[in-house]
Amino acid sequence: MPLYTTEAVVLGSMDFGESDKIVTFYTITFGKLKGIAKGAKRSKKRFGINLEPFSLVRLHFFEKKEDSLVRVSACDLINPFQGIRDDLFKIAYGSYMIEVVEKLAPERVRHTELFTLLTDFLGILEARGVTEDLLRVFEVRLLDDLGLRPHVSDCVICHTPFVIGAKVRFSPEKGGALCNRCVKGLSTIQISIGALKTLEMAIKIEPVKIPRLVFSREVRDESREVLRGFIRFHTGSVLKSLEFIEKIKDIK
Ligand SMILES: [Zn+2]
Repeated sequence: MPLYTTEAVVLGSMDFGESDKIVTFYTITFGKLKGIAKGAKRSKKRFGINLEPFSLVRLHFFEKKEDSLVRVSACDLINPFQGIRDDLFKIAYGSYMIEVVEKLAPERVRHTELFTLLTDFLGILEARGVTEDLLRVFEVRLLDDLGLRPHVSDCVICHTPFVIGAKVRFSPEKGGALCNRCVKGLSTIQISIGALKTLEMAIKIEPVKIPRLVFSREVRDESREVLRGFIRFHTGSVLKSLEFIEKIKDIK
């Protein structure tokens, strides 16, 4: 029985039965992976924080025939991202990032860029915190990595270019922006040309420049509505961590 080793971020874990844990990982080599860690609930010493959300680990596992869950044989901690765990707001934003990956990424499909995106953003979150704008950059790059890049360069249906000042709508169902003639019968969200250009730039910008990005207020509001609507369309539900962010926003 071959033993596999890969780097992974823990997306979530839950107790299972008397003594086990079921853990969801995002791995660099195998994409999203679900595994069972035998005895992990009882033996906290053996796994410690390594199976908790945010931890970057070196995962060792093997497959069991006719079982969709892999068996976790060992899990070594590379980075606990402790700075996230110590701050309620960082926990809230970090929980959103890992929940959106967990909900959108298909199981066992490798997306190496997505792994890099997630670990880069956990690093930024730990070191300096993440603004709403950076969350939007995370979302749009995540969608791009998964082959769901929103179509923003021209009308997604008829490919008419947008002129400055034109009224543009975004359709989550069609996955892109629409001209006035193509919106009929579709559920759409308003977006300005400026916000479309900002989203395009957010996908293309070099990673080192990301932490310095600041959106205008209009772009911030519109891109939040559009990306939330688009992600909700693909996940089919409102994410729990988003409700948590809304709840604690007023504390600040
Ligand atoms: Zn059109």
